Amino acid sequence: MKIKKETSAGGIVYKKTDRNILWLITQHSQHKGWVFPKGLVGDTVSDEPKEVAALREVEEEGGVKTKIVNPKPVTVFYSYTWNNMRIDKTVHYYLMEYLSGDPANHDWEMMDAKFVTEDEVRRILTYPSDKQAFDTILKQNTLS
Ligand code: ATP
Repeated sequence: MKIKKETSAGGIVYKKTDRNILWLITQHSQHKGWVFPKGLVGDTVSDEPKEVAALREVEEEGGVKTKIVNPKPVTVFYSYTWNNMRIDKTVHYYLMEYLSGDPANHDWEMMDAKFVTEDEVRRILTYPSDKQAFDTILKQNTLS
């Protein structure tokens, strides 16, 4: 079987409210899994930096503008089969802070996008690697 390597980038986005910290999660329109927004690096522009791709994908799929607060991403790996090809995927997630916008303005690639509490993130996320990335990002950063 042919193997193709793909690299995506995205964001684990938080929003501070008066009462708590909320996190952006999205539901994929095709596979229906609850995930953090992300997408292929260089999808539309060649030589696109990972950070630029991550900010772009969060805005497209999550409907919000954000800023990267930690330049070091958390990286996850997974594989899946598509069209008789094995896709080995690397995903870089950056910790981002919400700036503006409404998740309701997500594009068609996601069927839902919303801010939820930390407990809900853990409950709703579909894939163990994303749960692991969330735990790692919480451990590596102090949000106050
Ligand atoms: P991208 O947003 O990076 O362009 P995509 O939207 O084309 O990617 P993926 O979200 O990577 O597609 O989903 C492709 C396949 O991988 C689906 O079958 C999905 O269920 C599976 N998948 C997605 N995320 C993970 C994960 N974290 N761990 C394991 N499998 C995953």
